[in-house]
Amino acid sequence: MKATLPETASSFRAGVSRRDALRFLGLAGAAAWISPTLARAAAPAAATLAGAQPGYYRFKIGELEALAVNDGAFAMPPADSPFGIGEPREKIAATLTDALMPTDLVRLPFNVLLVRLGAELVMIDAGCGPAFGPAGGRLVGHLAAAGVAPEQVTGIIISHMHGDHFGGLLDAQGEVVFKNASVFIHRTEHAHWTTKGDENVQKYLNAFKGRWQLVAGGEKLLGGLEIAEAFGHTPGHIMVGIHSGGESLLHFVDVVHHHVLSFAHPEWVMKFDEQSDVAIATRKRVLDRCAADRARVFGAHMPFPALGRVRRAGEAFEYLVEPWVSA
Ligand SMILES: [Zn+2]
Repeated sequence: MKATLPETASSFRAGVSRRDALRFLGLAGAAAWISPTLARAAAPAAATLAGAQPGYYRFKIGELEALAVNDGAFAMPPADSPFGIGEPREKIAATLTDALMPTDLVRLPFNVLLVRLGAELVMIDAGCGPAFGPAGGRLVGHLAAAGVAPEQVTGIIISHMHGDHFGGLLDAQGEVVFKNASVFIHRTEHAHWTTKGDENVQKYLNAFKGRWQLVAGGEKLLGGLEIAEAFGHTPGHIMVGIHSGGESLLHFVDVVHHHVLSFAHPEWVMKFDEQSDVAIATRKRVLDRCAADRARVFGAHMPFPALGRVRRAGEAFEYLVEPWVSA
């Protein structure tokens, strides 16, 4: 009988006897509410709940082990956000309100996907590195927390040459972070930035001069990764399909940027889409296909751990979050 007593009751018994407590209070029948208080007196002070978030999530794609890794997040007021350029600014907050979202800040996480294919450990994108200040650059720390050292990464597919996707290739001193990784990029993306004359992008392209492996749509890498063209955000922006044991995941990268705004208004001009019309057509095409296929998706800027699905909602779409599972 004693073994079945709840914790608070046994602590209570260990410290102060029920009769003592009742005598102290001059009360009978008050034990039910005084016992937890007395039990707490013996407990160590509560630990703080403040601090950094955990930044990785393990999951599987068929037989493959995968890791979603958060690199930080970017936040801005709706009116300053890159969404709905040319639309009345209040439409952005109204769309958030419709989705029961706060309207003080639009938050865009930075997420990286890591997949193990036998001896290969392949990352899709490299996070911000030092490029976004304290908003980003948590990738290496979060990989370490998951037991992955940068030297163990054997391949990095750079989806496109924007700083939040390639910035983590070099550290603050300009040193290569993932020293044993081959780097892949779409040939059109590489050609575009090689001729564009953007000094910062050029620095990163030069750091891997002669090492870039140029890929194209439909190519399959390492037996389980399929390159899919999704141009417009940049001229050579790619998605990556991962297939194993009858299951698939589509990493749709920057086809969409916000889990409410990009889905409710795929037709909106997004400031960072370099070829706006092409990007809008791509967004509609990819979301339509994801909805029809009930595809499992991963997004560079979706709510962490960035796994979900897409559903049609009239002329627009909805993003549905995949539930977190503990094992
Ligand atoms: Zn991005």
